[in-house]
Amino acid sequence: MEKMIGKTRLNLIQGDITLQETGAIVNAANTGLLGGGGVDGAIHRAGGPEIREECKKIRAKQGKCPTGEAVITTGGNMATGHVIHTPGPVWHGGNRNEEQLLRNSYYNCLNLAKENGIKSISFPSISTGVYRFPIDKAARIALTTVKEFIQEHKLEEVRFVLFSEKDLKVYEEVLKDC
Ligand code: ADP
Repeated sequence: MEKMIGKTRLNLIQGDITLQETGAIVNAANTGLLGGGGVDGAIHRAGGPEIREECKKIRAKQGKCPTGEAVITTGGNMATGHVIHTPGPVWHGGNRNEEQLLRNSYYNCLNLAKENGIKSISFPSISTGVYRFPIDKAARIALTTVKEFIQEHKLEEVRFVLFSEKDLKVYEEVLKDC
C-alpha cells in the first residue's frame, strides 16, 4: 500500500528489512547495542562485523543507548547506507510510559535520518516481537508519528517493512483511518 503525504511517499510492504535499498534501515535493537535475536540478529548477520565494531565504539563513548533514543552506524554489507538502531520499549501492560517511549523511538530515528541528510528510510515493526507491544497500538503510534514528522520535514520515502502478511494487514487497516 502506498500513500503520498505531502511530497513524501509512505509505503507499507511485506518483506525482509535487510534487503531494502533505502538510505537507512532501522534496527529494533536493545539498549546494549551489540546484537540480539529477531530483526536485530538478522541485520547484524546481513551487515557483517563492521556494524558491531561501530556499535562497540558508540558503547565505549556513551554507554548503553536508552530506550526510545537512537544511534547511527554504517549499513556494512547491506544495500542500505546506514543502520539506525533504536531500542523500543518492552511492553509491561501500558503503565510504564511504553506508548511515549515507542513514539520517541520513531521520532528519534526520523530525526537522525534528517540530520544525516538521508532521504529514505525503512522501519520494521519496533517492539512488537519479543518486546510484546500490541501490534494495533504500535502501528497507530508508528504511523501517526511518521505522518506528523513528514508534514514538517522533507523526506522522499518512509517504508514500513512488515515481516508477515498478518502484520502488514494490521498496518494497512490502521493507515486507512489515520
Ligand atoms: P522487538 O524486540 O523490538 O520486539 P523483534 O526483532 O523481536 O523486536 O521483532 C520486531 C519485528 O520485526 C517483529 O514483527 C518481527 O517479526 C520482525 N522481523 C524479524 N526479522 C525481520 C526482518 N528480517 N525484516 C523485517 N522484520 C523482521
